[in-house]
Amino acid sequence: MPIPWLDSELAAWREQGRWRRRRTCVPRGDGIVEVDGRTLLNLAGNDYLGLAGDPRLTEAAVEALEQAGVGARASALVSGRTDWHERLEQRLAEFEHAEAAVLFPSGYAANVGVISAVVGAQDAVFCDRLNHASLIDGCRLSRARLRVYRRPDLNELDDQLRAERNRRRRLIVTDSVFSMDGDAAPLPDLADLAERHDALLLVDEAHATGVLGPGGRGLVARFGIESDRCIRVGTLSKALGSIGGFVVGGQGLADWLWNTARTQVYSTAIPPAAAAAACAALEIVAAEPQRRERLLDASRSLRELLQSRGLRLPATDIPTPILPVIIGEEAATLAAAAELESRGLLVGAIRPPTVPAGASRLRISLHSQIDGARLESIADDVAAAAAVACGGSRSGQ
Ligand SMILES: *Cc1c(COP(=O)(O)O)cnc(C)c1O
Repeated sequence: MPIPWLDSELAAWREQGRWRRRRTCVPRGDGIVEVDGRTLLNLAGNDYLGLAGDPRLTEAAVEALEQAGVGARASALVSGRTDWHERLEQRLAEFEHAEAAVLFPSGYAANVGVISAVVGAQDAVFCDRLNHASLIDGCRLSRARLRVYRRPDLNELDDQLRAERNRRRRLIVTDSVFSMDGDAAPLPDLADLAERHDALLLVDEAHATGVLGPGGRGLVARFGIESDRCIRVGTLSKALGSIGGFVVGGQGLADWLWNTARTQVYSTAIPPAAAAAACAALEIVAAEPQRRERLLDASRSLRELLQSRGLRLPATDIPTPILPVIIGEEAATLAAAAELESRGLLVGAIRPPTVPAGASRLRISLHSQIDGARLESIADDVAAAAAVACGGSRSGQ
């Protein structure tokens, strides 16, 4: 007996242009991926520094695999925390100039776990409207009073913080780089508000770890707002080329998360090989700053090239690896992405519910393996695809 409502729900989903195909993407090295028999330049991944396929990560992982096997066998709290995990936590704390780090099974799990460990029903949580889904889910699961604020004007947040002053605790939650707009959060202003309203600030550095800030330590470090009030979350699965999430902060915070953050207490630790690979990645981040320099140079150049072709991108003060090109309608965005594939480029077509209706976009994720000489032709291809998709009206407004 089929589930009775599925057919109609799926049909409606398709009709709205929201259908997601399940595709198989085979990495072929150097940022190249094979999809449906085509060889494409991958501009739809998060391997910003090209480390996921780096032989030094593979070597570290293989060594750990040979010694410890594949799985971690238990949650970290029970018996899953090996010396590879311990070493990685130490390295992460050193890397972020923090007292301590706690590993989570993923960045998603880190966000959900830390928010629900830090605030509860007696508290209030303040969430940027464009935060990543894992932050929103963490806010909901925490059962704290949820207040959603908008940028760039932070008066609304200021008012909300004042209105919730009688709550036991207040937590402001933000991405450091927003996944869908590729812009940076106003971290100094948020830190200032947190200070004034006796709130904590949680910053999700998923797209910044390894890429932005001094030594690739993220935007909190770039703005110099590290403090006991500021909880930093990062992921091992983007620029660090592995899998897992982490939180860095003071020893007290780490102890609290270790004891109470349910997403790491009740979930198996990352494989020792993943921890070993992430350690190797941190060494490369420290030793090879040219990777992030090349990436951010490419981001600056490609943004200019796209804008000079009449394409519309959300503004940002800081170059980031994410360049969204706003198309508008779902169908046009899908058509543009398909056109790009025929031109050898794999680019994400981001549609509702991930972004608001009418704000569908191509999301170009850069990586340091892209040859700078290729940017001009990438910009030409994106402009041509946008023009095809929108019947000539370029940015599709
Ligand atoms: C990717 C991402 C996450 C989730 O990280 P995973 O390690 O992939 O689970 C969390 N927050 C943001 C902003 C992200 O972009």
